[in-house]
Amino acid sequence: MLSLRGITKEYSSGDMKVEALRGVDLEFGKSEFAAILGPSGCGKTTLLNIIGGLDRYTEGDLLINGRSTKEFREKEWNTYRNHSVGFVFQSYNLIPHQTVLANVELALTLAGVNREERKRRAVEALEKVGLGDQLKKKPNQMSGGQMQRVAIARALVNNPDILLADEPTGALDSETSIPVMEILREIAREKLVIMVTHNPDLADTYATRTIRLLDGKVISDTRAAEAPVPTHARRSQESEAQRKPSMSFMTALMLSLNNLLTKKGRTILTAFAGSIGIIGIALILSLSNGANNYIDKVQRDVLSSYPITIEAETMDMSESLKSLMAANQKEEKDQEGDEVSTDTRMTATLSSWMSGIRQNDLHSFKKWMEKNWDRLELDKYVTDIQYEYATPLIVYRLDTEDGKPKQVNPSTTLEATGVMNIFGGSGVGFQQTMIDNATRSTNAFYILPDDPEALSTQYEIVSGRMPENDTEVVVILNSKGQLSDMTLFTLWLKDQDELEGQFEQLMMGGEPIVSDDRHFSYDMLQGMQLRVLYNTSYYAKEEGSAIWADKRDDPEYMAAALADPGKSQELTVVGVVRVAENSVASSMISGGGIGYRRGLMIKVLEAVGDSQIVKDQKAHSDTDVFTGSPFNPAPKDVKDLIREMEDRNAELIARNDPEARNESDLVKDFLAMMEDQGILPRNVLPEWISSVMRLDLINEAIQPGSIMIRGTSYEDNMEKLGISMTGDTAEDHPEDYPSAINIYAKNFDAKKKISGVISEYNASVGEGQRIVYTDYVGLLMESVTTIIDYVKKVLIAFVAISLVVSSIMIGIITYISVLERTKEIGILRAIGASRRDISRVFNAETLIIGFGAGVIGIGVTLLLVIMMNIILKNLTGISNLASLPWEAALILIGISMALTLIAGIIPSRIAAKKDPVVALRTE
Ligand code: ADP
Ligand code: MG
Repeated sequence: MLSLRGITKEYSSGDMKVEALRGVDLEFGKSEFAAILGPSGCGKTTLLNIIGGLDRYTEGDLLINGRSTKEFREKEWNTYRNHSVGFVFQSYNLIPHQTVLANVELALTLAGVNREERKRRAVEALEKVGLGDQLKKKPNQMSGGQMQRVAIARALVNNPDILLADEPTGALDSETSIPVMEILREIAREKLVIMVTHNPDLADTYATRTIRLLDGKVISDTRAAEAPVPTHARRSQESEAQRKPSMSFMTALMLSLNNLLTKKGRTILTAFAGSIGIIGIALILSLSNGANNYIDKVQRDVLSSYPITIEAETMDMSESLKSLMAANQKEEKDQEGDEVSTDTRMTATLSSWMSGIRQNDLHSFKKWMEKNWDRLELDKYVTDIQYEYATPLIVYRLDTEDGKPKQVNPSTTLEATGVMNIFGGSGVGFQQTMIDNATRSTNAFYILPDDPEALSTQYEIVSGRMPENDTEVVVILNSKGQLSDMTLFTLWLKDQDELEGQFEQLMMGGEPIVSDDRHFSYDMLQGMQLRVLYNTSYYAKEEGSAIWADKRDDPEYMAAALADPGKSQELTVVGVVRVAENSVASSMISGGGIGYRRGLMIKVLEAVGDSQIVKDQKAHSDTDVFTGSPFNPAPKDVKDLIREMEDRNAELIARNDPEARNESDLVKDFLAMMEDQGILPRNVLPEWISSVMRLDLINEAIQPGSIMIRGTSYEDNMEKLGISMTGDTAEDHPEDYPSAINIYAKNFDAKKKISGVISEYNASVGEGQRIVYTDYVGLLMESVTTIIDYVKKVLIAFVAISLVVSSIMIGIITYISVLERTKEIGILRAIGASRRDISRVFNAETLIIGFGAGVIGIGVTLLLVIMMNIILKNLTGISNLASLPWEAALILIGISMALTLIAGIIPSRIAAKKDPVVALRTE
């Protein structure tokens, strides 16, 4: 069944060539017990390895069942070894970390035999060699003779045709050799057994044939010349049908796992070292994830309570930043020669601010939103929309302590503190915006949502009821049921003169202010007498004159106006409500105030629009209703103005006109005009000042061109009267021209959706009509998140390095393992494992270590996260600041496995490439 034809084998080590075999011709039958005898180094092992397909011959041919092996490929050799050949070695070559049973099963596993059959056949083979009761033992718990019998069982389990034994009793004493030889003789009854030995006695006693080798040549063979074995063709076909051996990944995994388990300490240490990088990354992830979650939560809570505010005149921050950057990027020349050049940074900064100022067409936007409200399903996202108007809501309180009406809206609290004087009373541009904002923050009047559901979720009734018509209002208490001192001053429930005194005292370096705690009954609050005065009611036309005069400083006129239903409107306080905790309103109305309905504002807008002064102004759009003269948009020097006033008055005096003014009235007129122009703060100069001053002396004191009066225009006058409506068509209403829109979102996501709606609007209109707004709180929060993200990235980069380092270490350890397991690789190859199987075993091993490292890393991280959370809770009061998302945990385990796999690829390649013969020869 085997024919060797002129087989030679040359080994070349360096320049030296060793001829291990020099032309061996041998024939082996189907069942024989051939002993190969010869001195050490004569080529016995080499011959056996070539017969068994472990080594390749240099020249000649080996015929298996008549089939030449010259064209055999790696795969066919693997199959041949696995199915047709069983190897028994002098040094047993059992895999030490596997049980006896598992060692025997291995060849079957490689052949792809299923589990039950595998076990049955392995047990059968072990019983044959008399070890049926030692299945669970490890090889190192057995004697040499027993181990050799296990090796024979392993060689037999695949039911091979050929058994090759290389000095099977070489390491055994003569007594333990006997059962081994008996077994081999038994096997040789139906199989071809080729045994290498240098013990001629053994060969004589047991072998049926003795072949003597010397220096790579057969010098004698006891085989009688006999006819070739007749069953060539049949066997050949059968072997063709045999399946090629291949190790399943599970087998590789089990093999590696067993190996790792025999070295538990080292495996755990390796995995732990590998886990350090994972721990680092997982910790950073859990901290930043927790922080992000926390910020997200805060963002949701805070941001959703702030409305999206779109103002008619706004700063486009991105525009101004862009132009500021551009200005800064302009090449700046260093000083040259002996001249000093100018650094124009202030001009650049100012112009960049100016370039950012944008006008929003809120009218069109409002109309668009109303038209598309249902399509955009805005009811789902918006809790409330509030509109602000250029027309102020002027409210007076009548039931004051001194009996004089006091303005409660817009708030005069800030003026009373004297803070306004610091600003210079009034200003333009940026300064004006600051004052407006400060004033707004002291305002105590809030629009209530129209929607009854929103109203009842945001406010709880404490006393009385909710407003049912537009002239009814409620007192709003903050979520703690209080009114702030600021609100009390604004509503004149506390005297603002007191405030003035307190601040003066503080300015003079006096005692700190101690605010007293005052209490008010619900009845008292509901008894407040409030009255809305239309903005245009400040002006009155005097008898026979065409000029409208500002009468706000005339107490008699004001008292009358506040009683006149044509000039003002009574408000009824119908209840006291309290802001519901955590409601949208709670952050806006922290100090309490007065709540009114949207309809009230509309009523005011209509009254203002219907007023005589507005009608007059509209009827004569080229004449200033306040002066009776034509509009003159050019700015005017105050000195010219004074001269005009004096000239006009002189004329009146000359005509004996009753309208003529005396000297102190003239000064009063002048000062009032200065106040109107915002050049002098309002109500700051004492009454008597006009009686001691003279207009001509003032004129003399002023430098020409130093004080300029704004020019007059129709638009300015309309603005002053509180009219922002530019269109004048029948279907236009004044409430369609807001000066600001506040959109309150249901929640954070709804806010995003609303931003999306604004973007949609912007996309649908031309460049000039786009809505620009800045969500400052959102911007702030975003930058915090960005910083955290950035820090996270930097930290992860650092830790990734440690991950790579630990992977390299795992690679090195795997390589050491390859070196340690060289013998095992040889054994596996001897019983038919392919190169791929070998690399699989090592890949499986690194995968297991990687998995272990990942699991340890995640486990340790989870423990650390618990500890960190306890510490952080104590430090910050925020619970669960660190939390590891499970997806990240899984991904990290995956990364750990992938990295160790990569690290193990080179060692496992090295393992796969090992020559099985060399591998077996190593000890
Ligand atoms: P034996 O088993 O009869 O003692 P071997 O078959 O092991 O002899 O060796 C035969 C000859 O081939 C020896 O001279 C040995 O040194 C040489 N040889 C065996 N393997 C190698 C090898 N891998 N490289 C070089 N020479 C080798
Ligand atoms: Mg040898």
